[in-house]
Amino acid sequence: MRTMDADVVVIGGGATGAGVVRDVAMRGYSAVLLDKADLGQGTTGRYHGLLHSGGRYVVSDTESATECAEENEIVTRIHADAVEKTGGLFVVTPEDPLDFSDQWTEGATKSKVPWTEISVAEALRREPRLNPGIKRAFAVHDGTVDGWQMVWGAARSAIDHGAQVLTYTEVTEIVREGDQVTAVIAHDLKKDEQVTISTRFVINTAGPWAGRIADLVGCHDVDVVPGRGIMIAMNHRLVNTVVNRCIYPADGDILVPVHTVSIIGTTDVKADDPQRLAIPRNEVQQMLDSGEALIPGFRDSRAVHAWAGARPLFKDKRVAVHRHPPHVARHEHPRPRHPRRRQGHRLDHRRQAHDLPPDGQERRRRDVRAARGGPPLHHRPGGRARLHRGPQLPHHPPPARQREGPRQAP
Ligand SMILES: Cc1cc2nc3c(=O)[nH]c(=O)nc-3n(C[C@H](O)[C@H](O)[C@H](O)COP(=O)(O)OP(=O)(O)OC[C@H]3O[C@@H](n4cnc5c(N)ncnc54)[C@H](O)[C@@H]3O)c2cc1C
Repeated sequence: MRTMDADVVVIGGGATGAGVVRDVAMRGYSAVLLDKADLGQGTTGRYHGLLHSGGRYVVSDTESATECAEENEIVTRIHADAVEKTGGLFVVTPEDPLDFSDQWTEGATKSKVPWTEISVAEALRREPRLNPGIKRAFAVHDGTVDGWQMVWGAARSAIDHGAQVLTYTEVTEIVREGDQVTAVIAHDLKKDEQVTISTRFVINTAGPWAGRIADLVGCHDVDVVPGRGIMIAMNHRLVNTVVNRCIYPADGDILVPVHTVSIIGTTDVKADDPQRLAIPRNEVQQMLDSGEALIPGFRDSRAVHAWAGARPLFKDKRVAVHRHPPHVARHEHPRPRHPRRRQGHRLDHRRQAHDLPPDGQERRRRDVRAARGGPPLHHRPGGRARLHRGPQLPHHPPPARQREGPRQAP
């Protein structure tokens, strides 16, 4: 049995946990990040790849749209090596109602999401494969993020600030005395050894597993429902900018160019287990149809890979619907298909450490630096080997292949 001490234990090494542990370490706390698998093996490795401009939420949730626009700038600055500033377009296809675009422009202005209307001819010049029947087009600051690069970059930076990152270490128990957490007990899956970490502060960043972690500490009314979404990667870049349909957020309304492929997505269906996510044939067809609305002939490209991820959709009986608590954030699909579902997207990853109690002047100074996102992370191809027991990963993920089960995004 191993024992350790830490000011803060962060559970879950996805984009949220890696960003949070970095933020915590930058504020001067001793911190340990635990993941039951490798970093980014949860939703973070199976997402759509979009760095939101905020445009998606300008009608449904202007507050989120504004936060997205602000965080987009910060993430682009600190994770410059993981972000591609592709830019984005919101287009009204022949199938979409034109009057929504007026609501969209009004919402974008109100939420301070940068946008410009461009002519249809200009949109087609920028993206020649776009549906020539589009009726309006707006340019926004969407981009793409390499999830692996981002998560490992944040983890390496956290280690540089003194944090420890333990992968393949599954949290099995959270010990408390009265209302106070006193320790986290985990199982080192590689050494088959128990690890006990004495701590008084736990941050739950276990994504769709967060409800199970909350259960461990007796918070049984934190209900996290996995919302399964599928995506399909087509074999090359059909577009070079993110292309969104200018409609109320819906299934299959975004095409994202990521590295050498374009990814169409996504769906949103309640799932029972984030570990076992189906990729139903009808949803694959639905995605291909959605691609056709944006890019005629979409189906003629080759689909190289289909996968699914699980959104951490949050229901907490104690929390009012109108405003989320700091550890849960905005919705990917604000349309209430399941009542009271909340979920984050990748831009939330820096926020959770803000709630730690400041302690002394030096810590407050560090808090100010951390709140601004800290300095940019530099790409270090060999840096992964420096992680505590983290395995070497290739710099770029291996070529995508069609699989049955959910795997990581290319
Ligand atoms: C289909 C889909 C498309 C999306 N597209 C976008 C997009 O384009 N842009 C965007 O910004 N957001 C997108 N999102 C949302 C985004 O992917 C998630 O908000 C984000 O990845 C969540 O990261 P996380 O770190 O909170 O959770 P996760 O990445 O799921 O991390 C949780 C971690 O906790 C670990 N864990 C679980 N239980 C334990 C335990 N007992 N002990 C130790 N570790 C444990 C897991 O192994 C996992 O690594 C999408 C989501 C989905 C599902």
